[in-house]
Amino acid sequence: MIHSGSLQINSKQHLKIGGCDTVDLAAEYGTPLYVMDEGLIRENCRRYRQALQLCYPHGRVLYAGKAFLTLAMADLVKEAGLGLDVVSGGELYLALKAGFPAKDICFHGNNKSGVELQEALRAGVGRIVVDSLVELQELCALVQSQQQKTAVLLRFKPGIEAHTHDYIQTGQDDSKFGLGFAEILQAVRIALHAAPFLELKGFHCHIGSQIFQLESFALAARSMLRLMSAVKKETGFLACELDMGGGLGIRYLQVDNPPSIEDFVQTVARAVKEAATEEGYPLPDLLLEPGRSIVGEAGLTLYRVGVIKDLPGIRRYVAVDGGMMDNIRPALYQARYAAVLANKAAREATQKVTVAGKACESGDLLIEHINLPPVEKDDLLAVLSTGAYCYALASNYNCHPRPAVVFVRNGKSRLVVRRETYADLIALHQS
Ligand SMILES: *Cc1c(COP(=O)(O)O)cnc(C)c1O
Repeated sequence: MIHSGSLQINSKQHLKIGGCDTVDLAAEYGTPLYVMDEGLIRENCRRYRQALQLCYPHGRVLYAGKAFLTLAMADLVKEAGLGLDVVSGGELYLALKAGFPAKDICFHGNNKSGVELQEALRAGVGRIVVDSLVELQELCALVQSQQQKTAVLLRFKPGIEAHTHDYIQTGQDDSKFGLGFAEILQAVRIALHAAPFLELKGFHCHIGSQIFQLESFALAARSMLRLMSAVKKETGFLACELDMGGGLGIRYLQVDNPPSIEDFVQTVARAVKEAATEEGYPLPDLLLEPGRSIVGEAGLTLYRVGVIKDLPGIRRYVAVDGGMMDNIRPALYQARYAAVLANKAAREATQKVTVAGKACESGDLLIEHINLPPVEKDDLLAVLSTGAYCYALASNYNCHPRPAVVFVRNGKSRLVVRRETYADLIALHQS
């Protein structure tokens, strides 16, 4: 039932994370509470860097901040020696406030505003990943009028759409992200024309998220090298960088069996090397942008159990003091989670229940049909693997203050985001 190495059970039968007793954490910081195992995040960063270093020395790992980003997280990423992906002016602002070096920041987005592009230029971000011809033209005008240089990648749709357990190869790709082949050729010509202010480094793709099948990454790598080779034939442009995006899946349920970070990196690196050899293309620098697989399994959410409703012959609802406002993923795309009764972690899971949130939506069910030990009011429930895309997607629906975020490591905890107050909820209102 406990599927992560960072979780343990102590002699009081309490669940521990990062050496901290979750019952104590809930008492100290309140619930709902996001708890992140800082040691595991650091370990994942290290594994990515080391794996890439081993099989592709001219490589770089960037953490995709949209999965989970706070000042403390930006600090950690900087210390771990990774670069950082941002997707908005707001994420860029946060990163700069954290003192993240602008040259190690990569700016993404399918609809960057003119203001955001200016902010990125002013900050001097390391890369801007151009997603459309309109954006490219706007960027060209900006760098020329400001006489300021910037380095760019062009985002390509490789026609491979990957999901958790499968992928589809599509000829003409229906996606709001990226450029098709004809547009890429046009973009390359525009970008080369705008040199030296625009420095075209190469190409980017990102084929999806929560992907288990490594073959889809290998296919994408081959597709990118074919693109690069074709672009070279048509325009003479030789790319020195290839950014393969993120997307490696994580374990949410006991039955999930995602590939390791090492296997993922190795597969991508090998596919790039093989395809480059096949195409006779010089090896580009390789960039990877993992988000979920850095933070996902490192997080859990602690909830206090409230009302329990037995509907005989139907089901037992166990309501907790959070829900879709702190974890929208089950309601948004039927994401499934495992959970542990954190104050009775060693007890046998003998009762099937549905964990309900407290938002005014019938669809606000965090977990349908999970086996737990007999649950009582005021028990502490830990929903596992909530480190990615939960805090980042949290809302104030029903005027619920967003939970605090705590980092734990070696038996010590520290508050990295304080819990919102009722006053925070109306801080921006005018009457
Ligand atoms: C979301 C995103 C990532 C990270 O994806 P994960 O599935 O969290 O690893 C990387 N690159 C880009 C461009 C993205 O949009």
